[in-house]
Amino acid sequence: YLKQTTEVKPLFTQVYNDFKMLHPDFVINFDDDIREGSLVQIYRNHLEQVLVILLDNAFKYSADRKEISLSASTNSALLEVVVQDYGLGIAKNDLKRVFNRFYRVDKARSRKRGGNGLGLSIAKRLIEIYHGSLEVESVVGSGTVFKIELPIVTIEPDDGDDKPKKDNKKKD
Ligand code: ATP
Repeated sequence: YLKQTTEVKPLFTQVYNDFKMLHPDFVINFDDDIREGSLVQIYRNHLEQVLVILLDNAFKYSADRKEISLSASTNSALLEVVVQDYGLGIAKNDLKRVFNRFYRVDKARSRKRGGNGLGLSIAKRLIEIYHGSLEVESVVGSGTVFKIELPIVTIEPDDGDDKPKKDNKKKD
């Protein structure tokens, strides 16, 4: 799996279409630097699973009619993905633990919303396998931002020169 690559735009568009049917207040933003054919170094199903975990939470822990956004941009050799909601938010003390297995904030309240407290720990482990990072910032009552960074696959620029490449070996 570790060597697989995924085209950013088609995957994000598919995930966007899936969630948009259930949640009309969902928006997607592609920065101009995300071109057709931009590739990221992760197996497609793994990236999809992480996006679904983050988006599922964003909707689970927000009131109806609150906007949720999924954004993609690049920063040097990294793809930056941001999932932002304007929901319940997470208190500072809980923020340190949300990536722990089985950790759930306010068990009584969140039990109604289902879940085992596994989603975020799985998401973080998946991203880290691919040498990426998953981080969270949140303000109680205002909302939460999850940010994923993943290595972009860099392709040698094509100089449009289709002459055979020079052989650098010295001839004797
Ligand atoms: P599941 O195992 O189905 O994902 P879960 O949502 O409880 O269940 P995690 O995804 O690991 O588990 O999330 C851990 C806890 O972090 C949640 O129980 C919730 O309290 C909090 N949390 C996660 N995402 C958000 C969010 N976007 N806004 C507010 N709280 C959140």
